[in-house]
Amino acid sequence: MAARHPVVVVGAGLGGLSAAIHLAARGREVVVVEARDEPGGCCGSAQAGPYRFDTGPSVLTMPEVLAETFGAAGEDLDAVLPLRRLDPFYRLAFHDGSSLDVVAGAQRMAGNVRDLCGPAEAARYLRFRRRLGKMFEAEWSSFIDADMTRLRCMARPYALLRLAAAGGFRRLDRYVAAQLTDERLIKAHTFQALYAGLPPHKALAIYAVIAHMDTVGGVYYPSSGGMHAIPRAMATAAEKAGASIRYGVRARRVEAGWSGVTEVRLDGGERLPASHVVVACDLPRAHAGLLPEAAGDWRLRRPRYSPSCLVMHFGIGGRPAGRAHHTLHFGNQWAGTFDALAAGRPQPDPSLLVTCPEPGGTGAPAGHSTLSALEPVPNLASGADWDRLGPRLEERLLARLADLGYGDLRAAPRTTFDPPAWARLGHSAGTPFALDHRFRQTGWFRPSGRSRRVPGLHFAGMHTAPGVGVPPVLISGRLAAARILEDSR
Ligand SMILES: Cc1cc2nc3c(=O)[nH]c(=O)nc-3n(C[C@H](O)[C@H](O)[C@H](O)COP(=O)(O)OP(=O)(O)OC[C@H]3O[C@@H](n4cnc5c(N)ncnc54)[C@H](O)[C@@H]3O)c2cc1C
Repeated sequence: MAARHPVVVVGAGLGGLSAAIHLAARGREVVVVEARDEPGGCCGSAQAGPYRFDTGPSVLTMPEVLAETFGAAGEDLDAVLPLRRLDPFYRLAFHDGSSLDVVAGAQRMAGNVRDLCGPAEAARYLRFRRRLGKMFEAEWSSFIDADMTRLRCMARPYALLRLAAAGGFRRLDRYVAAQLTDERLIKAHTFQALYAGLPPHKALAIYAVIAHMDTVGGVYYPSSGGMHAIPRAMATAAEKAGASIRYGVRARRVEAGWSGVTEVRLDGGERLPASHVVVACDLPRAHAGLLPEAAGDWRLRRPRYSPSCLVMHFGIGGRPAGRAHHTLHFGNQWAGTFDALAAGRPQPDPSLLVTCPEPGGTGAPAGHSTLSALEPVPNLASGADWDRLGPRLEERLLARLADLGYGDLRAAPRTTFDPPAWARLGHSAGTPFALDHRFRQTGWFRPSGRSRRVPGLHFAGMHTAPGVGVPPVLISGRLAAARILEDSR
């Protein structure tokens, strides 16, 4: 494929920006078109009065993936986006009033487990932690940090055997319960299935790697500017490497001829010639108009989406005393909560993630702070009437936050995102968590990163492999760039 035309990247979310950085750093001419006025997509920003909120990810894991992305453009992460490791990574607050701080270091963490569950469980925890590490090693370079556009990339007998030996093909809940006995500790290592969009009894144990990534690897946070500083720094790095980013510009149609992609038509009629296109936005929507028909992917015939979330961001007075950056408040019900979500109903007794960013995180006037509460809720595929359900769930969330000691937040300046809001932002089924990670939407079975029938057309972002979350989408962008660079040799 001739490399005389630019590569056009559709979408300046983290996936698209990663592709742009890797391509521009290797000398390719890159044009990124982004429909919104700022970079970041899900990793966005919103304002209510004088308060600025991060509207997307708050749990940043695997900073080495971010460092590698900047490193590709010769930038040092510590210089352009200093991060600090949170301590604790999370506070897990259980329904019985007990809590567990998830902290760095095996012995320090085992000490916390001993205080909560006793010495025998602490010993089991240390064994379990080592096994999590083995699962991660069996999975990372072979399946997560690897191109899955060909079946043979997934069907590798030795790597699969290694993963099976580590227990990866059991169900997550059974895998964890076979090694730990305290219900609270089991919850602490299975709730992450929600990040994969599945209940722990449906998720494969391969997703225990998420627990390794956050409870062992740690959770980080930019030292200033909050999470939205990440896409801002990435956009700067991409531009420094030579990419051009055009904001407020929507791609309308990717055109292709017999030899592959030819151009991208923009809203307003402008045409950008392209030798390659990386589509890094919501894929089901892209297949409904943006992409040529020949790009159809059978994997999207019966998409199954992750649950969505209701997120309320508040501007508050001082930072609540004694609160961790992240607190996960578990509801009383466990299986029932996942079953309700899977059946398209709100959780009867929701588990919540409450984020009280450390000072310097988000923009709040001096002496003030912000607080965000995230409740997993059904996506729009359930057909729920959100005009009625939305206000009811908001009221319930406000009451729960008051019960949990965060005070009466009814009058606080706030901004709210619910499934209809996520749909207005362009997310299929009103969920910003894309397709879930059931086996038939994992690895090679997830929508492909490359179109088989339209040469030059590539995909990045959370709808492709490896999947949802900051590290995976950064990887997807790098993989798309690597395929294009390989094609152009
Ligand atoms: C509330 C919330 C909490 C989360 N929490 C975490 C967390 O704690 N940890 C974690 O790792 N991950 C988390 N995530 C997930 C993570 O943020 C996403 O998986 C990731 O940011 C998705 O990036 P992306 O590039 O695939 O897509 P997006 O961020 O959706 O970017 C796509 C971009 O494409 C643009 N676009 C769409 N159509 C067009 C078009 N036609 N033309 C031009 N531009 C277009 C959009 O405007 C958007 O900017 C969270 C997400 C949300 C929303």
